[in-house]
Amino acid sequence: MKRVLITGAAGFLGSHLCDRFIAEGFHVIGMDNLITGDLKNIEHLFKLPEFEFHHHDVSKFVHVPGSLDYILHFASPASPIDYLKIPIQTLKVGALGTHNLLGLAKDKGARILIASTSEIYGDPLVHPQTEEYYGNVNTIGPRGVYDEAKRFQESITMAYHRFHGVDTRIARIFNTYGPRMRLNDGRVIPAFMGQALRGEDLTVFGDGSQTRSFCYVDDEIEGIYRLLMSDYKLPVNIGNPHEITIKDFAEEIIKLTGTDQKIVYKPLPKDDPMQRQPDITKARNILGWEPKVGREEGMRKTFKYFRTLSKEELEKTEHRDFTGHNRS
Ligand code: UDP
Repeated sequence: MKRVLITGAAGFLGSHLCDRFIAEGFHVIGMDNLITGDLKNIEHLFKLPEFEFHHHDVSKFVHVPGSLDYILHFASPASPIDYLKIPIQTLKVGALGTHNLLGLAKDKGARILIASTSEIYGDPLVHPQTEEYYGNVNTIGPRGVYDEAKRFQESITMAYHRFHGVDTRIARIFNTYGPRMRLNDGRVIPAFMGQALRGEDLTVFGDGSQTRSFCYVDDEIEGIYRLLMSDYKLPVNIGNPHEITIKDFAEEIIKLTGTDQKIVYKPLPKDDPMQRQPDITKARNILGWEPKVGREEGMRKTFKYFRTLSKEELEKTEHRDFTGHNRS
């Protein structure tokens, strides 16, 4: 039985990866320090003999007994609200955590895939973003702790590949959504759905003309799995190229949820990228992959998940105004 280590296992993407690798017949070792992850996302796996969980912070030395065939490094806070609340941990897990896991991969002879992000493009001046674009990042802004940790992560991964011959893969993940997103992570999809369910107005930041391109989680996991199993060592964008403005998206959510609330406008957070859309030519050509789930279907499934949350969970939401709107 092949053995895979998944860090960030209790998080949104990590937990879906655990499910996928269990379904593919792997022995899965999940690791998480549970700062932003939630055991609820993987509690269904605890009864399986082919799953084990290690409660550990990967920015400290990582020890895993036995052999490892693959490592997927998905541990990191991943929403702007988290970067502001836990900036040092965000830097450490992307930098020190990646260093530890690359060392582990070298030691075990394991292939390692790291979760990079569209955030390495910053507020992009090239649209759509190809893997060749170097980005436009504010190193000292509120998002800098995430963006720069992820840029360092890519650099150290390539250095381990070139210098130590470690077998590496780099996935640049664009906005992804689906069941198990944290309701209170401040991201636009849980924010809008939570607001609709609580009967609050939907908060659009800025004038809503900024764009995003949302990928359903099943598509994202398929792209990541294919990249891991491919021979391609350079970064690959994995995301859905279907772009929409945040204002139009808010209107879609109002229609989908049937809420009679309206849109209210709030100041645009600092360094909020004005446009984001992946060029997925590489993923299409190299991995034979492209997203299959349209936004309407994906959002319906996601809303169904949020509707299963209890009233108490729905009320636990964070309001994002403390996160440094327009503060420099
Ligand atoms: N956004 C919004 N209202 C909210 C939360 C987010 O208008 O309640 C906007 C945010 O300013 C950004 C976009 O939605 O332009 C996506 O934000 P998110 O935090 O989901 O992810 P990002 O892509 O910015 O990392």
